[in-house]
This record gives sequence, C-alpha cells and structure tokens, in this order.
Amino acid sequence: MPVKTSIPVKGIPKDALLSRMEAMREKDADWRSGKTWSLVYYAGEEHTGFLKKAHNMFFSENGLSPLAFPSLKTFENEVIAMTARMLGGDEEVSGTMTSGGTESILMAMKAYRQLARATRPSVKEPEILLPVTAHPAFEKAAHYFDLKTVHAPVGNDFKADVRAAKALITDNTIVIVGSAPAYPHGVIDPIPELAAIAEEHKVGFHVDSCLGGFMLPWLNKLGYPVTPFDFSVPGVTSISADIHKYGYAAKGASVVLYRSKELRRRQFFVYSDWPGGIYASPSMTGTRAGGSIAAAWAALNSIGEEGYMRLAESAMKTAKAIMKGIGGIKGLYILGKPDMSVFAFASDTLDIFALGDAMDRRGWRLDRQQFPSSLHMMITAAHEKAAEPFISDLRESVEEVTANPKASTEGTAAMYGMAASLPDRKAVNGFVLDFMDEIFS
Ligand SMILES: *Cc1c(COP(=O)(O)O)cnc(C)c1O
Repeated sequence: MPVKTSIPVKGIPKDALLSRMEAMREKDADWRSGKTWSLVYYAGEEHTGFLKKAHNMFFSENGLSPLAFPSLKTFENEVIAMTARMLGGDEEVSGTMTSGGTESILMAMKAYRQLARATRPSVKEPEILLPVTAHPAFEKAAHYFDLKTVHAPVGNDFKADVRAAKALITDNTIVIVGSAPAYPHGVIDPIPELAAIAEEHKVGFHVDSCLGGFMLPWLNKLGYPVTPFDFSVPGVTSISADIHKYGYAAKGASVVLYRSKELRRRQFFVYSDWPGGIYASPSMTGTRAGGSIAAAWAALNSIGEEGYMRLAESAMKTAKAIMKGIGGIKGLYILGKPDMSVFAFASDTLDIFALGDAMDRRGWRLDRQQFPSSLHMMITAAHEKAAEPFISDLRESVEEVTANPKASTEGTAAMYGMAASLPDRKAVNGFVLDFMDEIFS
C-alpha cells in the first residue's frame, strides 16, 4: 500500500476510518490464538475488556503532574508499594512507575551514574558489569548515558559465571547486574552470590526482573524452586519489574524499585530555572499516560494473589508440556534448565533457523536467537490450547526440514545464519541500520 504523505484536507468519516483500520490488521500477528510467543501477554477477553475500561477512564489524564491528578498519584504509589511488598521490600523501598522495562533499566543505570558522580569523583569512566545474556536495555543505557558495559560470560547452564564476574570488577565499576530470569534462556543468574560480591565491593546491584517480577513470587508460593532474587537478598539495591508482562496490565507499565529513597532521588530530574516554571519529572518521559498507570493498578487489584497464582500455574504447566513435547522430538533440545515459562530450543542435527521458517509457514512466530542459534518461546496463560497443535506442527516441520537439504539456504534461514556467524559485528550492525532506514521510511 502506498504511504500517505499528507494529512487529509477534509477529515475522513470516522466509521470509514475504523473499518479501514480493522482491515489493516489482517496481516498482523495472530496473538489471540496463541501463535505468537512474545510481545503480547494475554489473560483472556474478559480481563482485557476490564483493562480497557480502566485505561479509558484515565485516557486523557497525565501522570506528569501528581498535583493535578491525585487519583494517578494514589494509583502509582499503591502500585509501587504492592510491587515492593511482593518483591520482599520493607518500608524503605521506594520506586517509580515507568513506561516499560527499558525505561526502568535506563532510570536505574542513570541513578547509579549520578550516585558515582556525587560520591566517587575518582571514577572517570563508570562501568556496568553485566552477564552477556542481560537485556540490551543496559547497552542502551550505556549508549545514552555515556557508560561502559563490561560483559561477564555465562556457563554451560547459561547462568552468569560468578568467578569470572568477580575478576572483571574494576575501580570504575558502579553497578553489577543479574537477571531473574534472563530473556534468552529463562534462567535466573546466581543472584545471592553476585549481590554478595557487589556488597563486598560497595557497588550497586540491580536485578532485572522485568520478565520474572510478576511470575517468580507466585511460582515460589506454588512450590517451584526459585533462586532468591528480590530485596530479601543482601546486596540487592534495585529491581526492575514489568507489569505489562506477567502482571497482565496494559502496555506502558513497569516499576523500578530502590532499596533506599536516597538512591531513587538520583533518578529524579529537576530544572528550576525555566521561564515555564519549576520543572520536575521522576523518569525519562515528560508526559506520562494516565491510562497505563490506572490500568496497572486495576490489573493488580482485580487479578489479586489468587488470580496471579492461577495464571502462573497455567503458564508453567503449559511451558512444561511444550518443553516435554520438544524434548520428545528427535534432534531438538531445550537450552539449559529454564526457571520459568521462558526458554529456547536448539538442534545439533538440523538448521534451527530453517525450522523457524517452516513454523512461520504454519503461522507460528518464533523469535530467532544466536550464540547458540536457537528459537525462543515465552509462554503465558493464553497458550494452554496452543500447546498440542504447536507440537504437532513442530514435528511436521522437523520432518520437512530434514527432508530438504537446501532448507538452510532458503527463506530467512540464510540471513539469520549469516548474521549469527559473521565475526564482524560492526558489519552486522550496519546491515540492521540499513534495514531500519528502509522500514521506517
Ligand atoms: C522485556 C524485558 C526488558 C525490557 O522491557 P520493555 O518493556 O520491552 O522495555 C528488560 N529485561 C528483560 C529481562 C525483559 O524480558
């Protein structure tokens, strides 16, 4: 379809526009039937309908001014308090709501930078020490805030190598990072050991629990083994947890928490010399969507502990069933020992990216991963009915790829294969930038 380049002179009738928009969705990923494994966290039509009502009620309000909208201030404070309590925090723990995991992580890294500037003037090139599996949001923080990332390797179990991490601490380290769990393989880093090292070296320790924050506490209560990862662990100084993932809230809702108010203060931004007035903003964005804050509050309160436990158990059972199904297909195996409903699978006998293409043709969207090459899955309560058809299509796809010796040179498999194997990562970045220029044209 040609891209329209000017605003229509006369407004188009609303009904016509709405039908056109409905038609434009036709080729979008089919998440309702559970055919996508990330991007959308769905707890059913009834819950979604309720979220939309809560979101709509505060559609126009702006969280930038808590003085103008005491309702939003209360929602936000309660969401932070409830999340802090869920994650083992006491009354000292404080935080902010943000638009998502990335913003939560950016804000935490900025707070550590400010703290270092104020208290450790000898640090000229502040460093974030993080496992290679940590989310790219930390690289983004380094990119934006002029920090350096130092990468710790992971072991064969895909968990951060504690001894290697310890050896990488320098006089410039300002914060160490661990994930609970890390996105690529769904495994929790050895948080207690890493946090102890951070404490010993008197640097901050951030737990990225964007993915697991609203899942692991319930799994723990359900009796699944969960590595301690929250404020109950000495040395943990901040945590990020996304409500718009396993909290099943509307998009644009995450929480960043700090062990002390003193640290959170380093996150805030104030400019008092502006002719437009004294400007104060807690996080990265200026305007903050009232709807996302309201819907997050509504989600926590309506689902409740019992609801979250049910959703967590359902996601976990489906994940176990799918992992078992994958393990039962010759040539495929799960990477590491996933701690929750997120995992990746790989193969030593067939091209996993060609398998991804074969699954694409059957309507299943699986994210491609590298080092090692694998396909990624993130299971929610919405996938219960998708498990069986998925495994049956996967079995069929394995046969198809096995029977086609050229599969790895066709479709997107060749591209992913090349991108994963090129030693020149700068060149890969260049290709991706070209691609982005094209997409956002
Ligand atoms: C999703 C995710 C993030 C980033 O969150 P966004 O909401 O996409 O910005 C960070 N860390 C982990 C582990 C995640 O899964």
